[in-house]
Amino acid sequence: MRKIAFFDTKPYDKEWFDTFIMNYDFEIKYFENKLNEDTVALAKGCEGIVAFVNDNLNEQVIKQLDDLGISIIAMRCAGYNNIDFKAAFNKIHVVRVPAYSPYAIAEHAMALLLTLNRKTHKAYNRTRDFNFSLSGLTGFDLHGKTIGVVGTGKIGQVFIDICKGFGMKVVAYDPYPISNVDFEYVGFEQLCQVADIISLHCPLTEQTHHLLKKETFDQMKDGVVIINTSRGALIESESLLEALKSHKVGAAGLDVYEEESELFFEDFSNVIIQDDVLARLVSLPNVVVTSHQAFLTQEALKHIAETTLNNLKAYFEGEPLPNEICYQCKKLNGCKKNHTERC
Ligand code: NAD
Repeated sequence: MRKIAFFDTKPYDKEWFDTFIMNYDFEIKYFENKLNEDTVALAKGCEGIVAFVNDNLNEQVIKQLDDLGISIIAMRCAGYNNIDFKAAFNKIHVVRVPAYSPYAIAEHAMALLLTLNRKTHKAYNRTRDFNFSLSGLTGFDLHGKTIGVVGTGKIGQVFIDICKGFGMKVVAYDPYPISNVDFEYVGFEQLCQVADIISLHCPLTEQTHHLLKKETFDQMKDGVVIINTSRGALIESESLLEALKSHKVGAAGLDVYEEESELFFEDFSNVIIQDDVLARLVSLPNVVVTSHQAFLTQEALKHIAETTLNNLKAYFEGEPLPNEICYQCKKLNGCKKNHTERC
């Protein structure tokens, strides 16, 4: 039976992987630790690993995994910005779960927007204290507002459908637009200028790192609402904080944060947080931070477990890997040129 090391395990991961594991010839060794230089040795004796968004798969970790004889990294997520593909190339295969539930993330993005706009986070606390005052809870109709969607892939398209249901005008930016759409594609600059709300649904790449920064905030409408359920480093956090303090940005819903890897998914309620930018953001009444939970629905967890186990099975049985990421040709859905074949 092949052994698989599973990093950053949470009870909900174990529950769903254990539901399906009996159908596969694997033994999973669950570790609560995040994967990094200090914990990689836990994978000794295993043939593959399962990792998540805040595991650190840098050059050194990849080299150590290779030395341990690990030949496959199965990401149980869609994003892959935390992997040094150059280091992995020709050594270790990388597979992912390209789509587990775009609805989960898109619906969470709308939940953040509705919360911020209608201030249900404040109303909840007030009424629990028998404070039935409405002062300061005024929102605005989403109907008729312009929403700017950055990235019209799987999640962006579902989010656009939801926004259309609310009667919003949708403008979108994507360097690879899709055809036959019922919304308008505009340039990124124009999107920043016309949108009342901006929601990010693009991957974190060299091109999108700090996509939203002081210069971009300056171009936006006063009071714009920013929603980020993609990756934290799409936004320069300190500039966002400044834009919130100056009221340029009216509200921000953040499911991800630039420096989240050491914090998110863990309980620091009895600790003094050293990240002053995050502490200040969390303290603002017009900011809602969730801890990278947009994916967390039953349907998504089920798909993640099934697809990850199928990816591993396909690899070990020498079958095609439709969910492999190829560094050389940058194909995300299975390289047809054997670029990722182990030498
Ligand atoms: P996808 O690959 O289907 O779509 C991404 C889209 O972004 C593509 O259409 C692509 O052309 C576009 N894009 C690429 N570069 C761009 C740029 N510079 N500007 C604008 N658009 C650009 O991916 P998806 O499944 O829709 O996921 C989107 C992102 O959501 C992922 O990359 C991941 O970071 C994030 N995500 C977050 C969670 C969460 O729990 N918060 C869960 C899953 C995914």
